[in-house]
Amino acid sequence: MQQNSPFDQWLSTTAFGAASQSYIEELYEQYLHDPNSIDESWRKTFDSFPKTTVPEQSHSSVRDYFKRLARDNSQNGIGVIDPNVSARLVKLLQWVNGHRNRGHLDADLDPLKLWERMPSPTLSYKFYGFSDADLDEEFDIGGYVYDKERISLRELADGLKNTYCGTIGLEFMHVNDLQARTWLQRKLENLLNKPLFNQDEKMTFLRELTAADGLERYLGAKFPGAKRFSLEGSDAFIPLMKEIIRHGARNGVKEIVMGMAHRGRLNMLVNVLGKKPAELFDEFAGKHQGDGTGDVKYHQGFSSDFMTDAGIVHLALAFNPSHLEIVSPVVIGSVRARQRKLGDEAGGSVLAITVHGDSAVAGQGVVQETLNMSATRGYSVGGTIRVVINNQIGFTTSNTKDTRSTEYCTDIAKMIEAPVIHVNGDDPEAVAYAARMAVEFRTLFKRDIFIDLVSYRRHGHNEADEPLATQPVMYRLIRQHPTPRKVYADRLIGEGVLTENDAIELTNSYRDALDRGECVVPEWREMDMSAVDWGKYLTREWTEYESRFDAERFKELAHKVCEYPADHPIHARVEKIYADRRLMAEGEKLFDWGMAETMAYATLLDDGHHIRLSGEDSGRGTFFHRHAVLHNMNERKAYIPLANLHKHQGHFEVWDSVLTEEAVLAFEYGYATTAPKTLTIWEAQFGDFANGAQVVIDQFISSGEQKWGRMCGLVLLLPHGYEGQGPEHSSARLERYLQLCAQQNMQVCVPSTPAQIYHLLRRQMLRQIRRPLIVIAPKSLLRHPLAVSSAEELINGKFRNVIGEIDPIDPKGVKRVVFCAGKVYYDLLERRRENQQADVAIIRIEQLYPYPHEEVRSILAEFSHVTDYVWCQEEPLNQGAWYCSRHNFGADIPPQATLRYVGRPASASPAVGYMSLHNEQQRALVTEALAV
Ligand code: AMP
Repeated sequence: MQQNSPFDQWLSTTAFGAASQSYIEELYEQYLHDPNSIDESWRKTFDSFPKTTVPEQSHSSVRDYFKRLARDNSQNGIGVIDPNVSARLVKLLQWVNGHRNRGHLDADLDPLKLWERMPSPTLSYKFYGFSDADLDEEFDIGGYVYDKERISLRELADGLKNTYCGTIGLEFMHVNDLQARTWLQRKLENLLNKPLFNQDEKMTFLRELTAADGLERYLGAKFPGAKRFSLEGSDAFIPLMKEIIRHGARNGVKEIVMGMAHRGRLNMLVNVLGKKPAELFDEFAGKHQGDGTGDVKYHQGFSSDFMTDAGIVHLALAFNPSHLEIVSPVVIGSVRARQRKLGDEAGGSVLAITVHGDSAVAGQGVVQETLNMSATRGYSVGGTIRVVINNQIGFTTSNTKDTRSTEYCTDIAKMIEAPVIHVNGDDPEAVAYAARMAVEFRTLFKRDIFIDLVSYRRHGHNEADEPLATQPVMYRLIRQHPTPRKVYADRLIGEGVLTENDAIELTNSYRDALDRGECVVPEWREMDMSAVDWGKYLTREWTEYESRFDAERFKELAHKVCEYPADHPIHARVEKIYADRRLMAEGEKLFDWGMAETMAYATLLDDGHHIRLSGEDSGRGTFFHRHAVLHNMNERKAYIPLANLHKHQGHFEVWDSVLTEEAVLAFEYGYATTAPKTLTIWEAQFGDFANGAQVVIDQFISSGEQKWGRMCGLVLLLPHGYEGQGPEHSSARLERYLQLCAQQNMQVCVPSTPAQIYHLLRRQMLRQIRRPLIVIAPKSLLRHPLAVSSAEELINGKFRNVIGEIDPIDPKGVKRVVFCAGKVYYDLLERRRENQQADVAIIRIEQLYPYPHEEVRSILAEFSHVTDYVWCQEEPLNQGAWYCSRHNFGADIPPQATLRYVGRPASASPAVGYMSLHNEQQRALVTEALAV
C-alpha cells in the first residue's frame, strides 16, 4: 500500500489494527468536515498534521485525496482520472465500508424494539455528502459489493440496509485475518435477494418452534409455579441448535458436546436431545432416580444420537452446576479428549457448542479465561460455537448501564477476534442462517465464533417470579408481543406455505406426543454404547492392582527417559539433572522425586496408557525438578523424552498452561471425565493457586459423581509445605479438600517419598476405579537428601497409605506416637535422630482420605501400651488436617489413650511472612512434638 500522505504516514506509525484504522479514517474525515465534532484528543492529533488545502468537491476521503495528490505529484501534477467522478465514487465506497463496519448498529435485532442503540451516522449516505436527489445516480463500482458492476445509489441503499441492517447484524471488521474477514463479508453480501430456505426447511423450523413453545406451555399448565427456567421468548434457540447439528454433520462433525446454564435446558433436553417427556415429568413429580444424591432437573446432562441427512451425530449435553459460565471450559476439555481419541488433530469431527446468558457472558471472568485458551496449543479444539441466549435481562437486571460497560454483551469476543452474528430471535430463518454461517466459519477457519440470539424472556427469572415488579415497561411490551412461533406461523401463512388450520394441527399433534410421554425428536436414535469406555469402572470399588513392574524394562526405561538427541543442547543445570538421572538408572544413585515421577509416567506409557499433564510451568516444574520438556539452547525447539520412548507407547502430552486456574482446571476436569484411559493431571504452581478454581473443586471434582454419576480420575498436584515463603506460597489449603471428603468421593494423599509419588500416580491409573486424587505435593522435599528411594522400592513396592516407624526403635521403649503427614516428618525425624531419642515413634499418614483405619491399626498394634498420641502438623490449628481428620486419628488408638494437637496456633493467614518467625514456630512445634 502506498503510504505517502501525512495522514498515512502517521497512521502507519500507530499500533492500531485494521479495524481501528478504518475507524480512524472515518474520524479524520469527520474532523475535516467539522473539527469540533470529534473528541478533543483526536482533534489535537489531527491538528498536528501539516496543513494542505483540501479542495471542497474533489475528495471523498482524505486518505484518497492524499493518495491521489501523491500520485498526481509523482506524475508531475498530471491527473489521470476525473477528480469529481472518482471523489464521489470513493465516498460511495466509504459508505459501503461504513456498513461493513457498523451496519450491525442499525440492524433490526431486538424483537421488542426496546434496545437503545448507539447512533450510527456513517450509515447514511447523507454523511458522505449525497442527498435524496442523487438516489438514481448510477455508479460503476466494479464488483466492489454484490459482485455488481454498476449500481444506483437507491439500489445500493436498499441492498446495504437489507444486508447489514436486517435481522442479522454481523460484527466482523475486527477480524484481522483477511481471508476470514473477506469470507464473512461475502457470505453476507451474497445473501442479497436470494431465497434462504425451501418450503420443507421452513416447515421444519416452524415445527421446531412449535415444539419449543409447546413444551413450555405444557409444563406451565401441568406443573404451575414449578421452576423450569422457561425458554419462552428465545424459542428460536431450538431450531438454532438443531440447525447447527444438521449443518455440522454436513461439514464432517460426528460428535457435539454442549454446555449451557439452566435457561431453556429442559427444552433442549426434550426437543433436541430426545429425553423422554415422561422422565422429565417424573422429575417434576420429585421421583428419585439413580444411585447418587442427584441434582435438580435443569442441571442434568444427557447423551443421545441424532440422525441427519449426513449421518449420525452423537450429542452430549454436559451436566452443570448453577455457576453459569463454568461449564464452558469443561465442555471444551471434553471435546479435546474426544478429538484425541479419534486422532482428529484438526478438530473437524468433534464440535463444542457453549451456550451463554447475556449477563453472565459479559460478567463472569471464566469466559475471558476460556477465550484466551481457545487457540493455544494445549487447549484448542479447532474453534467453539458460542451461542448467547440474549434475553436482555439477568435475573432482574435489564438496564445495560448496570449489566455491562459495552455496547454488546458479546464484546469480549473481540479479544480473540471472533466474529459475532447478532440475530433477531423472532426471525428463525435468519437464526438458521446464522447457524450455518457459524458452522462453516468454524470448519474453514478453526476458530471461535459467536451467535448472539437477541430475544426476550417471557416470564420471570423462574416461574414463581413476578417480572413486572422490576421491569414494568419491558414486561408490558412482552405481554403484548406475539410468541416467536406465532410470528413465524403468521409469516408462513402469509407466504402460503401452510394454512391456519395446518398451524393449529402442528400445535395439537405436538401436545398429543407429550401426552404419550415418548421421545418427541424424530431424529433421535438409540445411543451406540459400544464406543463407551467406562464399563470396567462401573463397580466403583477401590480395587487391588498389580503394582510391580518388570525390573529389566524398568531399567531400560530409566535410561530411555534420560535420552535426547546429540544435536539438542540443553541448559547446563538441566544437563546435570539428566546426568544424575542416568546415575539413578544405573543404580549408582537413589531415585529423587523428579526421576521417580518421570518413571511413573514412563512405566504407564510403556504399558500403553496415555498421560496429559497441564499447569503453570508444568513442562519444567515450578521448582525446577521435572524437566519433562528439554529446550534447545540454540533454536526454538523442544524435545520431550517421555513422548519418544517407543512407537507403541501411550500418548504423552505436557502443557505449560495459560496463566489461569479456573478455566484450566475445569478443562482438565472435562478431559478426565471423558478419557478414563488417560491419566489427566492438573498442577498448581503453588497449591493455594487452586483457590482461583474453587468452583471447579466444589461443584465438579468433589461432588460430580454423587450428583451426576460421572466418574473422574483427575489428579491435582498441589505444592505445599511450610518453608518460610510466606502466606501465599506455603499452604495448599489441605483443610478445604478434607472438608469436602465424604462418601469416598475422592482421595487426599500426602506422599513423602519418591517411591510414594511413583506408586500413587501408577495406582491412580491401574486401579479399576476413577475417582479424583488430590496430591498435597512437596516443594523442598523435591531435593531433600532424605527424600530418596531405591529402585527396588519402585519396582517391587506399592503405595503405602500409612508408613510406620523406619528407624530401628524398640517399640517397648516408645512412650509417645506422633502422627504426621508431609514435610514435617523429615523435620521430626532429623531432630529425633539429632536428639538420639528412642521414646517417640513417628508414623506418616500418607492417605488422609479415605482414611486407612485398618493399616493404621496394624501399625499401632506394637504400640498398644502407649497412651500419649500426638497429631503434629506445620499448618495452623484451624488449617491442615487436624479439625477434619482428628476423629480418624483418634479412632484407632487404644481406648485409654489421649490424642493431642501439636502445630502452629490458629491463624487468620496461612503462614507468617517473616522467615525468623517461621523458623521459631517450626522449631517450637517440632520440639513440642518430641518432648516426652
Ligand atoms: P458421552 O459420550 O459423554 O455422551 O457419554 C456416553 C455415555 O458414557 C454416557 O451416557 C454414560 O453412560 C457414559 N459416560 C460418559 N462419561 C462418563 C463418566 N465420566 N462416568 C461414567 N460414565 C460415563
